[in-house]
Amino acid sequence: MSLTEKILSLKKEKKAIILAHNYQRPEIQDVADYVGDSIELSRKAMEEKDASIIVFAAVDFMAESAAILNPSKKVLLPSLGARCPMAQMLTVDEIKRWKVHYPDAPVVLYVNTLASAKAYCDICCTSANFVEVINSLDADTILFGPDRNLAEYAAEKTGKTLIPIPEWGFCPTHLLFQPEDVMVLRMKYPNAKVIVHPECSAEMRKIADFVGSTSKMCHYVKESEAQTFIVGTEVGLLHRLKKENPRKQFISAYKDAVCPNMKLTTLERLYDSLKHEKHLVKVPDNVARKARIALERMFAVNGLKR
Ligand code: SF4
Repeated sequence: MSLTEKILSLKKEKKAIILAHNYQRPEIQDVADYVGDSIELSRKAMEEKDASIIVFAAVDFMAESAAILNPSKKVLLPSLGARCPMAQMLTVDEIKRWKVHYPDAPVVLYVNTLASAKAYCDICCTSANFVEVINSLDADTILFGPDRNLAEYAAEKTGKTLIPIPEWGFCPTHLLFQPEDVMVLRMKYPNAKVIVHPECSAEMRKIADFVGSTSKMCHYVKESEAQTFIVGTEVGLLHRLKKENPRKQFISAYKDAVCPNMKLTTLERLYDSLKHEKHLVKVPDNVARKARIALERMFAVNGLKR
């Protein structure tokens, strides 16, 4: 029996579901029940009724959100080391420090934050819904973290003043994309559309035909008449794009744009996690209660009340 077959049979036996982020390895995406971005996966975790175990093939903050939104389930993170460096960049102390300077500004946090930080914010957002979330607030000055690029892009899209907290937060993987690489690819593929994630730099956003979250990129590609796309996000998304659009061609804007944290989930670790029910994600009740309010406010903006 192959490892994939063993995982599938164990999954059935244990009444588990596997949720995988778009940046996971192809073989992990293929064994998952659902593949999506952070908001799609949070929604799935929130709505899941039948499974007793949710295996979250992603990084720490996403599994924490699943545990917060669905506290009656066992949420497992296959690799304990799968931590998002950007989420680690914003501490509770840093939020408190900025609140002293801007006591009236609401705090909006990208879901790419730890539960402890979410517990100190007014509302969460994702790269798919930040415009709606920010526009729902009756405030012109907003503390926004932890991604500085997303803060700048959100300010452009909403016309509001967004103060990035910390001042320098970034995703190391998305910073690898450079406009000069795209220029070279555009010479080779002159009819290609350039699609980039808002965690990329302003220079990358400027030269793109489309800027959006991974779910919005998938939608854009499906609807587009173009046949070739230069993709400015973690290379894992290309697997889903190719599967969903077998006749279209996808080229990474930088083929080494790999998130090493996302790639820590391997089939071996996934099997081990299911078999021994590890690593159980637990968020302290007092933190989970406050973080859940921030996440539910975000869903309410999107018309997704529980
Ligand atoms: S791609 Fe960037 S934001 Fe996403 S998990 Fe990796 S480091 Fe974190």
